[in-house]
Amino acid sequence: MMTLREALEILAHHRGQRIVIATMSSASVWPSLSDTPLDFIYVPSAMGQGPSLAHGLALAQPERGVIVLNGDGCMLMNLGCLVTLAEHPANVYLLIIDNGLYEVTGGQPTPGAGRIDFAALARAVGIARVYSYDNASAWRAGAAEALTGPGPVVIWLKVEGRLGQSAPKAPRPMAEQIQRLRQAITEQIPEPPS
Ligand SMILES: [Mg+2]
Repeated sequence: MMTLREALEILAHHRGQRIVIATMSSASVWPSLSDTPLDFIYVPSAMGQGPSLAHGLALAQPERGVIVLNGDGCMLMNLGCLVTLAEHPANVYLLIIDNGLYEVTGGQPTPGAGRIDFAALARAVGIARVYSYDNASAWRAGAAEALTGPGPVVIWLKVEGRLGQSAPKAPRPMAEQIQRLRQAITEQIPEPPS
């Protein structure tokens, strides 16, 4: 196992110029690791819709990768997003950060916690690039490969649950976040991968 912070610190070394969308538990940690215009703290959120937001951005700008930090509870709210990603491939890097809990609402176990195989679900719908890591050293060793190359990529990370967390707060109002992300992605179009 690894902590949520460890998991996200490793990601921070490899995210490059990609957009990062953080939801739920991740939204409470990611702003302390990165707070650029390409970081979008999806709070308040429609729970489960982070991957769909990432997918839309990646389809609109095919040369730009979009990383989305989703929880296990969020995945269960919108499992259909995997099917849509397989059907319309795009450079989405979907991190399923699995603590087995609905952390923000008080630590209730998620359905299937400890039994559900998110990697198998992703493969079953036709996503070829699927990685799983259950400890920090394995994730550290694998992150560069998992986060390089074309999407969609699903990365399933097992992390420790935290109890007593309150709902994450966004570092700035949603309207301001949307405005600065829109400005960043229209002004800085990335180079096509060589
Ligand atoms: Mg969770």
